[in-house]
Amino acid sequence: MLVYPTQKMVFIPSFRYNGVHHYILGGNLKDCHANYLYFCSMLEDKKQDRVSLETLGEFGLINHLTEHFSLQHKSSVKGIGDDAAVIMHSQKTIVTTDLLIEGVHFDLSYMPLKHLGYKAVMVNLSDVYAMNATATQITVSIAVSNRFPLEALEELYSGISLACEKYKVDLVGGDTTSSQKGMLISITAIGEADEKEITYRTGAKPNDLLVVSGDLGGAYMGLQVLEREKEVFNVNPNSQPDLEHYTYIVERQLKPEARKDIPELLKAIAVKPTAMIDISDGLSSEILHLCKNSVVGCNLFEDKLPLDPTVISACEEFNLDSTLVALSGGEDYELLFTIDQKDFDHIKGNPHLTVIGHMTDASMGAHLVTRGDTKIPLTAQGWNSFNSR
Ligand code: ADP
Ligand code: MG
Repeated sequence: MLVYPTQKMVFIPSFRYNGVHHYILGGNLKDCHANYLYFCSMLEDKKQDRVSLETLGEFGLINHLTEHFSLQHKSSVKGIGDDAAVIMHSQKTIVTTDLLIEGVHFDLSYMPLKHLGYKAVMVNLSDVYAMNATATQITVSIAVSNRFPLEALEELYSGISLACEKYKVDLVGGDTTSSQKGMLISITAIGEADEKEITYRTGAKPNDLLVVSGDLGGAYMGLQVLEREKEVFNVNPNSQPDLEHYTYIVERQLKPEARKDIPELLKAIAVKPTAMIDISDGLSSEILHLCKNSVVGCNLFEDKLPLDPTVISACEEFNLDSTLVALSGGEDYELLFTIDQKDFDHIKGNPHLTVIGHMTDASMGAHLVTRGDTKIPLTAQGWNSFNSR
């Protein structure tokens, strides 16, 4: 099971910059600011002119939230509306679940519900893609206290809907109930794959190459920027920070995208990874999972770590070591996999993929080989919901 990162998502009133930024779901920064204020007023509305969930009742609510979702997959035989969904895959079925709890995994004073809905789906789809599978359906279960009006759940479902459309997955069911305090969301993602295509964490062999998609550390640095801006805002509510220089990293934090394209790409070039995992907790922690499950060691090369220039400049600004950020920053949702050396020619030069190391015999251990050619043992410093608070 994937542990959802616990750092606070910062989504703050200081987003009062007027430029148009595509990382805001379905709008620009002005909308985003409005969205934030809207949500705050929603929760603090003394006049009670929001629609309370009680007025609709459970069935009215489910119907209202889900009526715009339609089924796109043939395998979705029956979706919402019966005691259970019916799914008919022609291949192996892949299932993964995450449970997200307000105050533990997300903080609504910073995070707009639309983003939360989108990100909650991404986190699950990322696990399906890490099995080298196609995601086809999701179920969404929520528990909310009476502090949430209908409008809040509409926001959450608009993010879920956007994710379903973009990633072509069907919402086929869920559960809706009340909680005494706060919001809980549990999403289950379902997918399919030919057994021959499924990539477990167990298949890496000594001498396999270690490959990562995209680049690393962006989501963590985006969080640093957002937290700093929040501090600035707390001191001076009239401050007008310019986030223009940080667009990429802020986007990585607020609107992560699961790497649906990578299993597709690998299929197209006829490369089957020997093992694969998604990067939710941080590169070093995921490498250690692969090593443990496959019973191998690893040499990871510092000079190969893919870093976006904005991550490097933000690290300089925040006086953080970019290698440490790449190794330990969570929430990048990239895919990390191993391939046989004979497949190197197929992935060589691909702009989405970087070879960052190779696997060794288990007895050699897992190490970072620094630019100065020193070997440092890798430790898991990724996010852990039990020790990071
Ligand atoms: P049951 O009482 O059998 O659990 P429910 O009344 O909870 O049924 O749900 C009715 C239908 O609505 C089912 O198809 C269920 O999967 C779906 N559903 C319930 N809650 C949600 C939700 N939050 N999101 C999506 N579908 C939901
Ligand atoms: Mg139910």
